[in-house]
Amino acid sequence: MSIKVLGFAAESNTTPLAPYYFERRDLRPDDVLIDILYSGVCHSDLHQARNDWHGSQYPIVPGHEIVGRVVAVGNQVTKFQVGALVGVGCMVDSCRECSPCQHGLEQYCEEGCIQTYNGTDRHDHRPTYGGYSTRIVCSEDFVLSVPENLDIKAVPPLLCAGITTWSPLRHWNVGQGSKVAVIGLGGLGHMAIKLAHALGAEVTLFTRSLNKVEDAKRLGADHIVLSTDIEQMQAVQNHFDLIIDTVPNVHDINPYVPTLTLSGTLVFVGFLGELAPMINTVSLILGRRSIAGSAIGGIQETQELLDFCGEHQITADIEMIQMQEINEAFTRMEHSDVKYRFVIDMQSLKVTETV
Ligand SMILES: [Zn+2]
Ligand SMILES: [Zn+2]
Repeated sequence: MSIKVLGFAAESNTTPLAPYYFERRDLRPDDVLIDILYSGVCHSDLHQARNDWHGSQYPIVPGHEIVGRVVAVGNQVTKFQVGALVGVGCMVDSCRECSPCQHGLEQYCEEGCIQTYNGTDRHDHRPTYGGYSTRIVCSEDFVLSVPENLDIKAVPPLLCAGITTWSPLRHWNVGQGSKVAVIGLGGLGHMAIKLAHALGAEVTLFTRSLNKVEDAKRLGADHIVLSTDIEQMQAVQNHFDLIIDTVPNVHDINPYVPTLTLSGTLVFVGFLGELAPMINTVSLILGRRSIAGSAIGGIQETQELLDFCGEHQITADIEMIQMQEINEAFTRMEHSDVKYRFVIDMQSLKVTETV
């Protein structure tokens, strides 16, 4: 016995996503079965479907921004009941024993956390399949509780784009009076602005295009600095406590470093790879400044984010699509043509499933 599920999968790095029937495991004692309502579309879905980062195992069912309702629970589940509104983010398991895991930092598990898709289950060694599907099975310890008062179709992006920006904001103690800058206004950037603003920070967006000004202000930015304008860049020297760099491709960060205050930090959240040009250390040393990186967030921290968003009525700005429109959505994402996250209405797949 196992649970039959319909999803959308890529069969190779050159084939478009298409309907794919597969099986989820039967519930273990600590598992919950979730009926997926909405699934966010992250840039990594596109990269993994196309094997841009290598290591993709096909067929691949992407999706790690999942919101749905619990429809069954294993016999040792204590945290969730049938009917609960829940979420699953980028990981579904970890070793649970190493130092990072013991400290709620499962994303940095020394054995590697188990990705929601394109991972391998620690127990049955079967591949993990993500949220572009009708149902998912997940250990309750990696399931999040979603506040019922939020507009739930706009919640999924909190589980990746949201937590990826929330975690550095919390780690570097951003709060009332902090000065935060965000580089790049996409899925991650728009969440960074909303969350930093809600934490009480003065928020600045660095951008290269003036047509983002209105949107940035609406999202909560206090200031916009045109990064190509030398005078505007001069005016913010020694200014920011934290810069969150969300740009997903290689870019020159040297102009931004001097805008950090003494002991300020620029943290990468969107780009994996080698920097070019190299970083000049002069302004690092002379201002005791740091360049850092940060990956998603732990389970406890993700719950904290969702609770915070519930209290402050924060969700992502989304564009709803049907599952069948995913390939077109990928193409639009490549052209940054989305404000600011696609979310799939999983009802569109359930209709197909019953035919
Ligand atoms: Zn993601
Ligand atoms: Zn671990």
